[in-house]
Amino acid sequence: MGHIKLTNVTKSFGAVDVLHDINLEIKDGEFVVFVGPSGCGKSTLLRMIAGLEKPTSGELSIDGKVVNEVPAADRGLAMVFQSYALYPHMSVRQNLAFGLENTRMPKAEIAGRIGEAARMLEIEPYLARRPGQLSGGQRQRVAIGRAIVRRPVAFLLDEPLSNLDAELRGSTRAELAALHARLSATMIYVTHDQVEAMTLADRIVVLRAGRIEQIGTPLELYNKPANRFVAGFIGSPH
Ligand code: ADP
Ligand code: MG
Repeated sequence: MGHIKLTNVTKSFGAVDVLHDINLEIKDGEFVVFVGPSGCGKSTLLRMIAGLEKPTSGELSIDGKVVNEVPAADRGLAMVFQSYALYPHMSVRQNLAFGLENTRMPKAEIAGRIGEAARMLEIEPYLARRPGQLSGGQRQRVAIGRAIVRRPVAFLLDEPLSNLDAELRGSTRAELAALHARLSATMIYVTHDQVEAMTLADRIVVLRAGRIEQIGTPLELYNKPANRFVAGFIGSPH
């Protein structure tokens, strides 16, 4: 589960073409990172996979099923935003439970999932607090926890570390890598930071102005960049 495929996908906002002919296949359990300069279409691509935007043309499928018309809530994915997007008036526990409570899931199952995610992310001491009483790093862990409790087939993360200071960014990055190993779920991760891309990715998708310039492992991109743009972006001497 968590196999995602885009075939000739385009996206336009009015007369503005933002994504051109995107062909991309992401395997189950893969950690794929979208990189590219600001405005190249990374977030739009991720939001389209999430179901927050519809492709203008082309086909998007998840686990073999075309989902162009499937609403975000029914795609089995979970998104983590740079801005955390927590509910300020709810406790951490309520934030984690939100979205599970209106399903038929038994209360004990919800409590069990919250306990497990809280332990994994070391946020147990903060479950009764509100987001405003937490540091940025703690808030981002809660946002990741809210994704984990849903047991999604894929995690979609849009620059999740960019509001954290450098030290915290490093440690949270390492935790994300460990989390991926532990959950073995597909992760699609957007960043403009090449260090994050090179250290986290199984494969990197380099975007420029709405087109895929190259897809490959960090080593492939470093050793054989398709062009100067990719080389420059990855920091390759080639
Ligand atoms: P990135 O995440 O790589 O910085 P985005 O996907 O946010 O880039 O944006 C790509 C382009 O699409 C930008 O030119 C942006 O202005 C445009 N864009 C994104 N969302 C909208 C929208 N809802 N309406 C119009 N233009 C948009
Ligand atoms: Mg963006």
